Amino acid sequence: MTDIAIIGGGAAGAAVFGELLRCNPPCTIHWIVNQCSPGRGVAYSTLDERHLLNVRAAGMGLFLDHSDDFLRHASEELGHVRGSDFLPRRLFGDFVQAQIAALVQSASQQGQSFKVHKAAAVSIKATPQSGYLIALADGRIIEAGNVVLALGALPPRALRSVSNEALASDAYKLDPWTLDQQQKSPRRVVVIGTGLTAVDTLLSASTRWPSADLVAVSRHGLLPFVHPEQPMAPYPFQDDLNKGLLDSGGIPAMTRLVREAIALHTGDWRGIVDGMRPINARLWQKLTTRQRWQFLRHVRWVWEASRHRVAPASAQAIEQLRDEGRLQIHAARVLRVEGTSPLQVTIRGRVSQLVSTLESDLVIQATGLDTALAYTRHELLAGLLHDGLAVADPLQLGVVAQADGQLINGTGQPQRGLFAIGSLLRGSLWECTAMPEIRKDAHHVATCLSQNFVSVPTVSSGDSGANG
Ligand SMILES: Cc1cc2nc3c(=O)[nH]c(=O)nc-3n(C[C@H](O)[C@H](O)[C@H](O)COP(=O)(O)OP(=O)(O)OC[C@H]3O[C@@H](n4cnc5c(N)ncnc54)[C@H](O)[C@@H]3O)c2cc1C
Repeated sequence: MTDIAIIGGGAAGAAVFGELLRCNPPCTIHWIVNQCSPGRGVAYSTLDERHLLNVRAAGMGLFLDHSDDFLRHASEELGHVRGSDFLPRRLFGDFVQAQIAALVQSASQQGQSFKVHKAAAVSIKATPQSGYLIALADGRIIEAGNVVLALGALPPRALRSVSNEALASDAYKLDPWTLDQQQKSPRRVVVIGTGLTAVDTLLSASTRWPSADLVAVSRHGLLPFVHPEQPMAPYPFQDDLNKGLLDSGGIPAMTRLVREAIALHTGDWRGIVDGMRPINARLWQKLTTRQRWQFLRHVRWVWEASRHRVAPASAQAIEQLRDEGRLQIHAARVLRVEGTSPLQVTIRGRVSQLVSTLESDLVIQATGLDTALAYTRHELLAGLLHDGLAVADPLQLGVVAQADGQLINGTGQPQRGLFAIGSLLRGSLWECTAMPEIRKDAHHVATCLSQNFVSVPTVSSGDSGANG
């Protein structure tokens, strides 16, 4: 059993599939994409032109060694485009699809063996021959020696504060990307969350329902920081800072070093945060579970807002909504969401501690990535956990895996031939969810699978653990 299967039709799956087609290993490559438009995934399926990339055009791409391709593609469609621009995400989705279409065409002409399956994968079972049988929702079974999970974030889970009645009503939207199914114009829309997903949700809601009042609620009430219009000069002492961070022991020391650098720096603090990006995964890997927990508890919210910044045009549009009095942002905890339509949203102010109730025709949960595997209703992943082929990260940041993406199984051993990429690796890499990292990781996993290409023996090699 030598074939390779990639499960997931988002940009990460597309990057691995494309890299494998380019490597041309002597096997069949299966890409299992469900019913989606392959290559776009959650981030690049939007057709709203106000949903912008939060990475400059020059930083976006599908393949590691083709850094200018997206810029070229964008220039062909839009005319003059600068590498520093923040372009619509729709355009990047078009680009990914065009790249894959070109590769598929040339692979077909060369007689390469590959298949794209438009069905969900519902289970993966290890075989005695150290391979895998992947069951698809349409009843087909695919055999593969290596499997790459490119599943993105988990399906969103409702906050505990939402009543079953509210959840069952049409007025509570668990998935912010299905807004267009909402027909009636609401008087007030409450968005839970103030991160990047919430920004896009608010922008779409403001266009779609011009007369609706918009309210966004999150514990800190903190919007993401904004990218500067132009790229910043690098921090001159970044190498020293990064070395110091790698040598430091723990979260308080790291935060102190970063604070000191920001205080000393005469330039833009955002350059310092960006300059840490190449070492973020290594920094994370050096932390103990307790230190990671400390980070999540005390630093995460400010780190996420600083590191994952919003495009200037999106920030300006949000500011305008606030200036016009159409958008209010509350730093508050959501205590309860009850009722049917309208919903009653009870919140407690962070500073005032006052409890108040907002009435809303529509409540949209936009709380960002869910990676809490232990609680997931994702059938495939729940099955992998049950069978001991995967283990949930102790801090609920995806799966336990090696730095190269190979999963660790229930016996604590690397699970031969089973890899992940993207959000599922948050617990191992932390910095792994955006295209600059995904394209590197896709290149790495595809190269490894192709270069180390060996037929998986037909008798158990005995190294795949109890479940292998
Ligand atoms: C709103 C938003 C904006 C973003 N903007 C940027 C940006 O500007 N720049 C950037 O670099 N990054 C951005 N990101 C980060 C983004 O996560 C990555 O760029 C990239 O899109 C991740 O792709 P993915 O394939 O890992 O995940 P996804 O896009 O989530 O794709 C995973 C796919 O797998 C499918 N799937 C799940 N389970 C199964 C199954 N059992 N069988 C078959 N298919 C399955 C899902 O349905 C989904 O289609 C953004 C993310 C979001 C959510």
